[in-house]
Formats: sequence, C-alpha cells, structure tokens
Amino acid sequence: MITMTDVGKVYKSGEVETHALKHVNVTIEDGEFVVILGPSGSGKSTLLNVISGLDTVSSGTIFFGSKELTRLTMDEMTAFRREHLGFIFQQYNLLQNLTAYENVQIGADIGRDPFDVDELLAKVGLNEARNKYPHQLSGGEQLRVSVARSLAKNPDIIFCDEPTGSLDEGNSKKVLRLLQELNEDFKKTVVVITHNIGIAEMADKVILMNSGEITEVRHNAVKKDAQDIRWG
Ligand code: ATP
Ligand code: MG
Repeated sequence: MITMTDVGKVYKSGEVETHALKHVNVTIEDGEFVVILGPSGSGKSTLLNVISGLDTVSSGTIFFGSKELTRLTMDEMTAFRREHLGFIFQQYNLLQNLTAYENVQIGADIGRDPFDVDELLAKVGLNEARNKYPHQLSGGEQLRVSVARSLAKNPDIIFCDEPTGSLDEGNSKKVLRLLQELNEDFKKTVVVITHNIGIAEMADKVILMNSGEITEVRHNAVKKDAQDIRWG
C-alpha cells in the first residue's frame, strides 16, 4: 500500500513559487488500478513524480508499506525504483543503435524475474517490427517499444503519464489492455495519469485533481474492459 500524508510540493523558480501539491492525502492499495484525472497544470505529473521518488516532496510523508520513501537517500531511492517500479512516460528514450527487440531486452535484463521479450512484443503488436531500429519506427511504435521495455523487468508497480497520448484508438486500447492484464492477471498496481475520461472507466479508483489538490476519490463498482471503454 502507498500512503501519502499531507504531502506538499512547492516549485521555486527565482521569486516565483508554485504550490503544485497542497495537503495531499491519499492511499493506493496493492493491486489497485488507479486513474488520476484533472486539468492541465493541476499537479498530476508532480504527484506521480513524488510518489515514485523521481522528485522530492516539500512537506509530508510517503510510505510504501512500512518503508518511508521520504526518508531514503538518493541511492536507496534509485535502487528501490530500479527493483520495484516501472514507468511509462511520453519521452521514449529508446537507444537508437539497438533494435526494438534489443531495447526491450535491456528492460528485461534489469529484472529479477523478467517477462519474456517475444511475448511482450507480440502483446503490444510489434512482432513484425522487432528487428527495426527506432528511426525506422513510427511514433506510436516507438511508444509501444518503450511500454514493453518498462514492463519487461516485471515491476510491482507501474506508473504511466499519459501512456496513450500520441496513439490512435486501436493502439491505445492495446496498451491499455496490456496494463489491465498486468493488473488483473499479475496483480500489479497500476497508476495512470490521463486526460481521457474514458480510461477512468477501467479503474478501481479515480483520483480527481484540481489546483494541486485532490478534490474527489471515486470508486468504480464496475470496471470496464479496455476494448469497451468510451473514447474521445
Ligand atoms: P498536464 O496535464 O499539462 O501534464 P499536470 O497536471 O501534470 O498538467 P504538473 O506538471 O504537475 O501538472 O504541474 C503542476 C504545476 O506545477 C503547474 O502550475 C506547473 O506550471 C508547475 N510546475 C511543474 N513542474 C515545474 C517545475 N519543474 N518548475 C516550476 N513549476 C513547475
Ligand atoms: Mg503532466
């Protein structure tokens, strides 16, 4: 379980202070599929960055079970992140001199109990493209390689910031289906930031944000399958 208590985040640039998170209290249970929804600038990425230790909090505490993340050193946090957390961001950071397959293999090599690279590539619809280099792939294909790479190490928790941003509906649903499968079949905790209200229909829990605050936490009685959610 992840527990955030009274978390604040202030960005300072020169004289300007931005209170990106204000008194955030929230819990995420193990195995939960959580969607964070909110307008641009409401603090969604900041929330994800501090939960995952990519950035520090200005106040408050974050616990993963009994482990207090907000007390770890940078090195401890890096080791924790490497072992337990997976990320899907919009910058793909693929290695240009490696094929799609090899990029995903790099992700698998970090894991203690990694997934099968061929199986993952098939799931994201990249069987045909496995031997292509990043510059030979479309944007959506590159995103799907980066998704497969993030998941290959078999992380306990998967954080995604707009994982379907540049994808069409068909490919978005492939990525979402994969996240759903990891959640349902492998009991992974999945946290997805999105602007797409349809994706919220897949979640156990929807966290609504506005101006750095959590304004509502909704629990879905029924979760929809990725292929059945409303789109657009
Ligand atoms: P979007 O949907 O556009 O991605 P968001 O909900 O993810 O928006 P954040 O990126 O968390 O929003 O930003 C929250 C607030 O913090 C915004 O006002 C933003 O301008 C500010 N902010 C974010 N990162 C920084 C930074 N590194 N330095 C200063 N201010 C920042
Ligand atoms: Mg953002």
